[in-house]
Amino acid sequence: MNCWHCREELIWGGDHDFEDHGLDGEGIVSNLSCSRCSAFVLVYYPIGEENEQDNIRQDTEMDKEVRKNA
Ligand SMILES: [Zn+2]
Repeated sequence: MNCWHCREELIWGGDHDFEDHGLDGEGIVSNLSCSRCSAFVLVYYPIGEENEQDNIRQDTEMDKEVRKNA
């Protein structure tokens, strides 16, 4: 993963639990810092949401078809 600002490779600093950051639920907070500029990146990765099915709505696509045929 590269720095958002200068594109330099980020250095992984470690992982913490959501709990350590005072957040609800299960998850990992990874911290990375840039070796060139002073950018600091936190990545919040929630765990346990894989079971919740995303409802991918295809209404928009269907609307397009209807309009095309009308
Ligand atoms: Zn940077």
